[in-house]
Amino acid sequence: MAQNPAAKFASMRGKTPEEAKFFWTGGPVEVAPRTWFASQFSGTTAFETNEGLVLVDTGTKQFAPVLAAMLRQKTTAPVHTAIYTHGHIDHAYGLEAFLIPGQRKPRVIGHRAMPARFERYQATAKHNAALNARQFGGTVDAQANDAYQAFAAPPIPPDTLYDDKLMIAVGGEKFELHHCKGETDDHTWVWSPERRVLCPGDLFIWAVPNDGNPQKVQRFAWERAKGLREMAACQPYALCPGHGGPVIGDTAKIVHMLSETAEFLETVVSRTLAAMEAGSPPHVDIVTGVELPTSDSPWLQPVYDDTEFLVRNVIRYYGGWWSGRPSELKPAPRKDLACEIAAMSGGAKALAERAEKLAASGEFRLACHLADFALEAAASDADVQAKVAAVYDKRAESELSLMTINIFNSAAAYARAGKPFA
Ligand SMILES: [Zn+2]
Repeated sequence: MAQNPAAKFASMRGKTPEEAKFFWTGGPVEVAPRTWFASQFSGTTAFETNEGLVLVDTGTKQFAPVLAAMLRQKTTAPVHTAIYTHGHIDHAYGLEAFLIPGQRKPRVIGHRAMPARFERYQATAKHNAALNARQFGGTVDAQANDAYQAFAAPPIPPDTLYDDKLMIAVGGEKFELHHCKGETDDHTWVWSPERRVLCPGDLFIWAVPNDGNPQKVQRFAWERAKGLREMAACQPYALCPGHGGPVIGDTAKIVHMLSETAEFLETVVSRTLAAMEAGSPPHVDIVTGVELPTSDSPWLQPVYDDTEFLVRNVIRYYGGWWSGRPSELKPAPRKDLACEIAAMSGGAKALAERAEKLAASGEFRLACHLADFALEAAASDADVQAKVAAVYDKRAESELSLMTINIFNSAAAYARAGKPFA
């Protein structure tokens, strides 16, 4: 029988090195001459040159002053060029804090697809706030107002865009920017051939790559795998990741980390495609049928994203939105279906009780289907609310990935509020 994921997580935590923590905080760490890395939630890397700094990523608006203070212990050079590895709010929104008084506005480089991302954020600010509330375990109303504010363009947007590759020279030194889709379509990894320092952005995060996220736009595991292999071929001396700590002076380890992650993704993609090729069954058959790869390496634990969700994103890329179940092509409203099932089952409370029993025996997938029907049929029934919330509490406890845990915690919060996830 498969090991209980929560138990596995606990044992992994025991042997997980400090630098593997997604929320690793530290710095300034000298990763190469005149090169420093610091991280608070997300990482930033500064390359000091004779013309000023090349700064890769800038943290969140909230933590950027902390990151900048760490960096400024080491160098007072102005920022000559800032590179945003992608347009997420924990990478592209903190540049102001790094500028020194009176300095010239730096050049800011991002991939060509980045401005469209910011436009999308603004067009769907409330939607994004809602899904982030769920991703972090809450309900929409509780976090909405602050969250809407977050989804604006960054304070200093990029002024220089590129398509596939860009070589820049600062202070007489070359830096390479490579586009690679993965977690986002606007991702850049940065390579300093002279210092042999690699900044992969969130293409490497000390965890199963975030290519599955259930609520976000399309992600590209197969493209990330290709990029990781190109990065490994550079034979880096130091790795400065988007999240987690740096690895310095151990090229063999860095190459292994990048290559093993590439292989992991290639395995997920090829197995999913094979399942799709076998007669294009309904998505649920693929998701519950594909054997997911696992690894004992501390950089390949599904502690943030969930490997099962990566399968989903492969299906989405190669397929349409329809799940493949005939009834779901043009479904009934949730409440109508739930009332019908409840009526046949002896009422919503009977459904909730059965859900509790299934959850108690570890049958969480089945339990949650019944719990959803119970709440959708009788959202205002306090007893049903409590039972459904308890089922989701238990399920959250049984899970390994932060994203899964939080969405189930969110489902429990919605149940307690008498709202069937709406
Ligand atoms: Zn990030």
